[in-house]
Amino acid sequence: MKKDGILVVGSSNTDMIITLDRLPKPGETLMGRRFVTAAGGKGANQAVGAARAGGRVTLVARLGRDMFGDQALAGFIKDGINTDFIQRDRDLPSGAALIFVAKAGENCIAVASGANGKLCPADVRRARPAFAHAAVLLTQLETPLPTVQAAVDLAAACGMRVILNPAPARPLPDRLLRRVFLITPNETEAGLLTGIRVDGAAAAARAADKLLARGVQAVIITLGAKGAFAAYQGRRQLVPGFKMKAVDTTAAGDVFNGALAVALAEGQPMAQAIRFANAAAAISVTRLGAQPSAPKRGEIMRLLAKGGNNEDR
Ligand code: ADP
Repeated sequence: MKKDGILVVGSSNTDMIITLDRLPKPGETLMGRRFVTAAGGKGANQAVGAARAGGRVTLVARLGRDMFGDQALAGFIKDGINTDFIQRDRDLPSGAALIFVAKAGENCIAVASGANGKLCPADVRRARPAFAHAAVLLTQLETPLPTVQAAVDLAAACGMRVILNPAPARPLPDRLLRRVFLITPNETEAGLLTGIRVDGAAAAARAADKLLARGVQAVIITLGAKGAFAAYQGRRQLVPGFKMKAVDTTAAGDVFNGALAVALAEGQPMAQAIRFANAAAAISVTRLGAQPSAPKRGEIMRLLAKGGNNEDR
């Protein structure tokens, strides 16, 4: 069988979103505008982002035996994701996130991990057959670090490329980073990982050098609307983002990572893969919610054909 699949090991949550004029301050009660429930969680968002972008995706995750878990699973199946290695936890509820989205598109999020916190190395090993057919492992840090390490170790043993989206950021051992092909922090995460304040391409270049020195082969630092900065094979490059009217930037990074994994698994060159990911993420910021905002491949291709990124202006 051709090794072109994408294996995602990560979290699944149900997002409960309230939109408001501005974010509430501590102790303050604000009247919201709208309440929306949407499927989320970084692992699940990236799996759905990759599936809609055209990837053959398997998700390894842990859900509760509750209504939220049922709904999440139904969503994955609808998107054509292989759910054979999703466990249903007997004791813990499915993960949940409470999200405020302000008018300008900024957000503020609190997450209760629930069953995600019990995704364990044994769950990863159970998915061994799926590793055999995948070209890329895509993983994040919303699940326990030993589980991430187990997935990265198994992927390395199977000759897969590992993409680590280090979100939410936490200190990472070199033992993990040495096995990572590509790390994809946003500006805040790059700052936390390197101690460098990242606020644009110049600082991103310095932060990328620090991460490369720790053993990863390539670094992409996403820069919000500005696009993404990449450091790989001795090259340094800013790939500009697309100009869009942002409605909700939740999961922009997840859609970016999902699409990027698809493009790299297809063998697209790095700069082209980043442009594909920028286009997918740009479409996602024009829509509310995490998984509902992930575009299909056709939409991504249409935006790429139209151009209109900051570089083209
Ligand atoms: P995160 O969502 O993890 O905080 P970023 O904010 O860096 O990550 O966004 C990830 C990617 O999403 C960017 O590299 C870019 O391609 C795209 N993106 C984010 N915000 C916008 C925006 N306002 N307009 C267009 N594209 C955006």
